[in-house]
Amino acid sequence: MDNSLPFALDAGALDAGALDAGALDAGALDAGALDAGALDAGALDAGVSARLSDLRAILFDMDGVLYLGDAPIPGVQATLDYLEATGRKYCLITNNSTMTPDQYAEKLSRMGVTVAEDLILTSGVATARYLARLEPKGAPVYVIGERGLLEPLEAHGFWQDDRAPRYVCVGLDRGLTYQKLKVATLAIRAGARFVASNPDTTLPTEEGLVPGNGATLAALRTATDVEPLVVGKPSAAIVDLAVEMLGVEKATTAIIGDRLDTDVLAGQRAGIGRILVLTGVHQPADIPAFEGKPNWIVSDLAELCRLLDGAPIPPGETSSRL
Ligand SMILES: [Mg+2]
Repeated sequence: MDNSLPFALDAGALDAGALDAGALDAGALDAGALDAGALDAGALDAGVSARLSDLRAILFDMDGVLYLGDAPIPGVQATLDYLEATGRKYCLITNNSTMTPDQYAEKLSRMGVTVAEDLILTSGVATARYLARLEPKGAPVYVIGERGLLEPLEAHGFWQDDRAPRYVCVGLDRGLTYQKLKVATLAIRAGARFVASNPDTTLPTEEGLVPGNGATLAALRTATDVEPLVVGKPSAAIVDLAVEMLGVEKATTAIIGDRLDTDVLAGQRAGIGRILVLTGVHQPADIPAFEGKPNWIVSDLAELCRLLDGAPIPPGETSSRL
């Protein structure tokens, strides 16, 4: 039996390029992520480096940090160059599973930023790597998703099977149909493990907020009473994979992102440092309402570099370890 059948890309599942990475809205599937709490010392990890200048590796969220939609945020290349010049490691992480790393590298290239594909960890790639740990030789899977999920799974030896898959992998699929939900539901009910690339409930478009992958997960959860295993943020899984990919220590690694409910919470769950950057969604006033607490706040990438370089933190500035 030939198990190496390539994934069939649905016509409706194409045109991934129109979607923007971090533009995806944060998912609230995880009840723990919604637990509001006042900022307290308990949110800090004893193992996390006390000074930003001690950090040896940075995991970057993309939208809201490197760009806003299609508009580049200033200083990205200079920041990456600075990290390299100071012997630090970095990678870029996104919850979007519709685009592949090479598509992101292309997008960044159009903005004048050069990043190697293998330093871009999408939730699609993370899902494939996560499953490859469980199934080193691959396994039959039923995939609801687009190119950014299908290609990495195929590359890791998984093949599409709508009859008896061992896993049902769900990422945003703009060609979603009732038939796909039906196949996934029957498979999960028959014992296939339910895995999600990301839980983002909505995503912003020019027309407004439209359903994200979390909306598909909600349908399947309702039909199966099974909770998905989530790989993307705010799960620690994608952060753990990034840390391992870079071969760095958690104590001297931090994630920088613009969202408390995805980037910061994922970093917190994984036990690495968290830097909230104020060029995107969340601001310091939002911190009390979220479970994810940053260790540091920086206004932008220029400030990140100054603090990584050991610049003193002026009294009264926000850029301090909280
Ligand atoms: Mg973001």
